[in-house]
Amino acid sequence: MKSWGHTVIGVIFYLLLLRIFEVEFLNSFLMPFFIIISVCGSLFPDIDLVIMRSFKGFGHRNMFTHSALLPLISSLLIFTLLEDVNLIKVLKLILFPFLAGISSHLFADLTGGGRVKGLKGGKYWLIINGMLSLPFLTFYIGEILSKILKPFLSEI
Ligand SMILES: [Zn+2]
Repeated sequence: MKSWGHTVIGVIFYLLLLRIFEVEFLNSFLMPFFIIISVCGSLFPDIDLVIMRSFKGFGHRNMFTHSALLPLISSLLIFTLLEDVNLIKVLKLILFPFLAGISSHLFADLTGGGRVKGLKGGKYWLIINGMLSLPFLTFYIGEILSKILKPFLSEI
């Protein structure tokens, strides 16, 4: 799928998620800022096209960039490393459109065969990782994993 396709689908997907989860700032003056973040997220997985220029073996539709790896790690870091509830809230608001964009990209890549480089079940990979990248699910998993991790970290 072309970049403009990912962009349009990413923004629509983000706005839909906002509606469904009744996130308040829909009419906020910050909305254009959040829309831009959702566009960045919707284009992010294809960063493999840029990386490919330096590392030929990396390949397009790479299973690292086309996955829930970044969403889950960023969410885990926020909940594990930060204590300030308000700061976590703000970061979640900023991360929400980015993750919505990534998730929409993975679902949109299902069109045209759903191939992922080096994987046989590319379609399933995209569906599972697209779902795991959904912001609310990613935050939920990150919060639970951080509760498991924190006791271990405090002993270090
Ligand atoms: Zn892609």
